[in-house]
Amino acid sequence: MPANLFSEIEYLKGVGKARGEKYRKLGITSPYELIYHIPRAYLDFRCHVPVQQAVLNDYNVLKLTIFRKLPPQRVKGGLVICKAAATDGIDDILVVVYNNVYGFNALKEGGTYYMYGKVTGNFLRKEITSPVYIGAEEKVLIQPVYPLTQGLSVNMVRQNIKQAVGIMKSEPFETLPAELLRRYDLCTLMYALENIHFPESSEAAETARRRLAFDELLKLQLGMSMMKTRSRRSTAYKMDSRISVDEFRQGLPFELTEAQDRAIGEIISDLCRNVPMNRLLQGDVGSGKTAVAAAACYFCVKNGMQAALMAPTEILASQHYKTLSEFLEPFGIEVCLLTGSLTAKKKTALREKISSGEAQVIVGTHAIIQKDVQYKSLGLVITDEQHRFGVAQRAALAEKGGSPHKLVMSATPIPRTLALIIYGDLDISAINQLPKGRKPVKTYAVTGKLRHRAFGFVRDRLDEGRQAYVVCPVIEESETDLQDVKTYAENAAEGDLKGYSLALLHGKMKAAEKDKVMKQFRDGEIQVLICTTVVEVGVDVPNAAVMVIENAERFGLSQLHQLRGRVGRGEFESSCILITDNTGEECRRRMKIMSSTTDGFKISEEDLKMRGPGDFFGSAQHGLPPLKIADIACNMELMSMAQECARELLENDPQLSRPQNRALKMDTLRLFNKEIIG
Ligand code: ADP
Ligand code: MG
Repeated sequence: MPANLFSEIEYLKGVGKARGEKYRKLGITSPYELIYHIPRAYLDFRCHVPVQQAVLNDYNVLKLTIFRKLPPQRVKGGLVICKAAATDGIDDILVVVYNNVYGFNALKEGGTYYMYGKVTGNFLRKEITSPVYIGAEEKVLIQPVYPLTQGLSVNMVRQNIKQAVGIMKSEPFETLPAELLRRYDLCTLMYALENIHFPESSEAAETARRRLAFDELLKLQLGMSMMKTRSRRSTAYKMDSRISVDEFRQGLPFELTEAQDRAIGEIISDLCRNVPMNRLLQGDVGSGKTAVAAAACYFCVKNGMQAALMAPTEILASQHYKTLSEFLEPFGIEVCLLTGSLTAKKKTALREKISSGEAQVIVGTHAIIQKDVQYKSLGLVITDEQHRFGVAQRAALAEKGGSPHKLVMSATPIPRTLALIIYGDLDISAINQLPKGRKPVKTYAVTGKLRHRAFGFVRDRLDEGRQAYVVCPVIEESETDLQDVKTYAENAAEGDLKGYSLALLHGKMKAAEKDKVMKQFRDGEIQVLICTTVVEVGVDVPNAAVMVIENAERFGLSQLHQLRGRVGRGEFESSCILITDNTGEECRRRMKIMSSTTDGFKISEEDLKMRGPGDFFGSAQHGLPPLKIADIACNMELMSMAQECARELLENDPQLSRPQNRALKMDTLRLFNKEIIG
C-alpha cells in the first residue's frame, strides 16, 4: 500500500526506526504532521560571499566546488569526521562534516554547491562546519530552515517533506470555501503548504505564511467559541427576575457606580435564563468588583440557592470572606470560609453545613470545588482574579453538577481583540469607572541615591496615620531570596523605619501566619508591611496610602500596576515610589509609563507591545494551545479577519457538523487536543 498522509511517518523513504523516533520527539508522527512542520526562517543562497570575505565564527553562504574528498576518520566515542577540500575559484576552504557519512557521500568530487554554515579558522586556513547545502544547478535558491533535533539534518527533513508534499498533491484538500479565500485574499491550502516549504520567491513564502497564520487564528477562535456554545446546555438553576436586590443596595456603605450597576444588571439577567451564565467581569484594580460579586451572591441566595466564591490564595479568600460577611450577614445570610488549612474536624463540620444547605455563601480556595464537597444547590460559582485559572479549569468547573452559572473576575484589562481570544468562551461585562472621589496614585521613579528621602516621605505619611507597603522582589521564593527580604526588614527596622511597627509577609509563610499578619495590618496594628508580591493580587486595605517598590526593574508593567493598585483604594491621597538603579532603555520606558498613567488598559497595551503576548499571559496560565505560525501581537489585522470569519461560520453551522466544515472542525480539535471541545 502506498503511503498516505496519515500513514506512520516511517512510511516515508529514508525514515527508518531511528529517524522516526527523532520525528516523534518533535511531535511528528505522520506525513501530514511533517507538512505542518513549519520552517522558522529561510536561507537565501542568492547572497553568497567569496571565502576571502566570509565573517569568521559566523554563518555564511559560500559557493564552493569540491576538489578532493578525504577518507572518513573514526575517532573515540564512535564519532565520524568527514572532510573535503573545496574552493571558490580563488581561495580554498575545508568542508568538515560530523557524524553524517550519508550526507557527506551525497557531495560529489568536482561538484559545485551553495553551502551555508559556520566558518572558523584564520586568515590562512578556514573551515566550514556541517554546512547545509544545495547543488549549484538548483533553481530555487531560497531554502527553509527548520526547528531541528539532534541527529536530524536540514537535508533529511527537506527530502522527507518533499516526499510528503508529493503525497499531499496526489490527494489535495482544502479547509475553507472558495468564497472565503476570495474575500480574505488568501491562497489555497495546497499552494500554502507547498510554498511554505519550497517557495519560488520570498513573496510566495509570505503569501503561504499569511494563509497558514489565518488558518491557525481561525481555529483558535473557532475552538474558543465552540467551548462557549458547549457550555450553553441548560442549567438547573434558572433564577427569578422578580426578586429584587434593592435592599442589598441600600445596605451598602457607599453608592454603587453606574458601571457597577450595569454589571449587576447584566449578571442578574444572565442568572434568570435557562442556560448557564458564562461571564467575565473585567475591571481595573479598585473598581469595586467585590461589591458586584456580593450582589450576585445576594440574588442567588434570595433565590434559595447557594453561591461559591473561589480565590487563588488564602489571603484573598479570607479577605473576601470578611467583605462578603459584612455585606451579607445583616440580611441573615450565612457566609462561610473553606480553605485547605482548616483542621480536618472543622472541614468535616463545614462540609456538612454545605451539603445541608445551611451554608449559603461559601468562600474559599480551590478546596471549594473538590469532589468531596457536596452542595445542596450550587447555583453560582464566582472565581476571582481569573488570569490565574486557565481555560481547562474553566471547562472543569462547567462539569459541576446541574451546570451552575459562572462568573469570573479579572483585574487585568486587555485590548478587546485579545479578550476575544483569551476569553472567547465568555461574555464580558466591564466596569470602566472608578468609585467617586478616588484620586489617582501619584507615582515617582527614583534611583537608590534618593532612598533616604523617599523613606522620609513614607515616615511623614505614617505620622499622619496612614499605612505603607514596601515591596521587595523575590524571584523564586528560595531560601536566599527570603533571607534577603528578612535582612532588608531588619535593616529597615534599625534604619529608615526605626520606631514604627513593621511586619514581614511572604509566600513561604504558613497560611495562618499570613492571615494573622494581614489581619493586624488591616486592623492598623501594623504600620508597614514589608512584603513580596503576595500582595499583588486583590488585597484591600483602604488606609494604606503609600507604597515603595524596591528593584522596580524586576517587575513587568502589568505587575507594577497590580501592585500599585493596593494603594489609592480609600479617600486618602496616595503615592507609589519606584526605586531602581537600572538605567536601561526598556526600564526607563516602563518607569515613564508608570509615572504618567494609572489607566490599566493603556498599561496592558504597552505591556503587550513591549513583551509580546506569549510572555504577557504566560502560556501555562491562559491555557491556550500554542501557536506555531501566527504571532497574535503582530497579526492583529489578520486576527480581526479570523474573528469575523469564525463568527460567520458558526452562525451558519454552530457545531461545524456540515460536510464542508468537517475538515476545519477536525483541525480545530487537533489544535485544542480534542478533550476540551466535545
Ligand atoms: P477590585 O475591583 O480591585 O477587586 P474592590 O472590590 O476590592 O476592588 O474594591 C476596592 C475598594 O473600593 C473597597 O474598599 C470597596 O469597599 C470600595 N468600593 C467599591 N465600590 C465602591 C463605590 N461604589 N464607592 C465607593 N467605594 C467603593
Ligand atoms: Mg479584587
